[in-house]
Amino acid sequence: MNVAKTSKKPVIELKGLSKSFDGKQIISGLDLNVNDGEFLTILGPSGCGKTTVLRLIAGFENADAGQVIIANKDVTELPAEQRHVNTVFQSYALFPHMTVFENVAFGLRMQKVSESDIEPRVMEALRMVQLEKFAPRKPHQLSGGQQQRVAIARAVVNKPKVLLLDESLSALDYKLRKQMQIELKQLQRKLGITFIFVTHDQEEALSMSDRIIVMRDGNIEQDGSPREIYEEPTNLFVARFIGEINVFDAIVTSRLDEKRIMADVEGRAAQVHCDLDVTAGDNIKVLLRPEDIRLEEINYGEQAVGIIGYVRDRTYKGMTLDSVVELESGMSVMVSEFFNEDDPDVDHSLDQKVAVTWVESWEVVLANE
Ligand code: ATP
Repeated sequence: MNVAKTSKKPVIELKGLSKSFDGKQIISGLDLNVNDGEFLTILGPSGCGKTTVLRLIAGFENADAGQVIIANKDVTELPAEQRHVNTVFQSYALFPHMTVFENVAFGLRMQKVSESDIEPRVMEALRMVQLEKFAPRKPHQLSGGQQQRVAIARAVVNKPKVLLLDESLSALDYKLRKQMQIELKQLQRKLGITFIFVTHDQEEALSMSDRIIVMRDGNIEQDGSPREIYEEPTNLFVARFIGEINVFDAIVTSRLDEKRIMADVEGRAAQVHCDLDVTAGDNIKVLLRPEDIRLEEINYGEQAVGIIGYVRDRTYKGMTLDSVVELESGMSVMVSEFFNEDDPDVDHSLDQKVAVTWVESWEVVLANE
């Protein structure tokens, strides 16, 4: 696990956590450490158990087995209000009849903080989310993004050790969501609070997190930095969940050295970066992201250097030209090339014959599952 790579001490430790609903095991023996000050994202498809993990940490659900340790204290049996964690829900859950100020002050009042302390603390929290001027307004007088910021101010005003965010941005429109992603990340750095963020949106996870946990059916499939998860997925599920990827079936033909093999990839003899324990005749999968592939024109009489295919679709995306190439085997390959009007190689016409190539070592190689 990635935790071993850092010397930071964990603020949250989940040990052998299990939870069933109606006889169905949702989380089974989950182990996870979350470091102090870390922005950790739990990413996975709908129903994989992300929210359940968050609710077990928050104390809204009780575990069937295992332990929840927060700041070195076993809180497994403690109620939610004694756990020093706050949660921001997708629905914001603001009190509609209260002003922004009163919404943020509510938790402090419940904790019997003195009135003289409440005002400066609420205003400080509102300043952090740039909403001081909106203190007298009611939630319905705010935009969705502003309401979300109030929910965040309310959650950080009592300085929790950990903030749990459950799909907290998914109700916002695309542009606002992008803006809030940046703001939330900046706020987390400024506050130094540990954030555990749940999303099913891989782009959101990649752009915000220090570390990502990819979950499937209640288990952790991969635990790593955004870059590791994107560039070195450890299995097909993670590779496919984190964006577009081309999966080529291949056969090992020989081993060149510890790090490289020769393989037959769609009929092309290719040198492939591979440190798996494989030998000649083994089936493997060679994975390539669309942006790691290049298309080369094949001029008449020239020997092609890549896998032969035909451009069947092309889409101009501003920065890139995206193509779909049909190989002679029938497989479709997605390609995304940086578009430059001065570079004729990146302007393919429909049905053009091309060679699919890539730079060695950009591929991810997996043994057959
Ligand atoms: P989503 O992204 O759709 O919110 P999720 O990954 O957060 O999904 P959970 O909400 O943790 O998934 O749910 C995991 C599974 O547990 C689902 O099949 C869900 O129906 C079930 N589940 C969650 N809470 C309960 C409950 N209180 N009672 C019964 N089943 C539940």
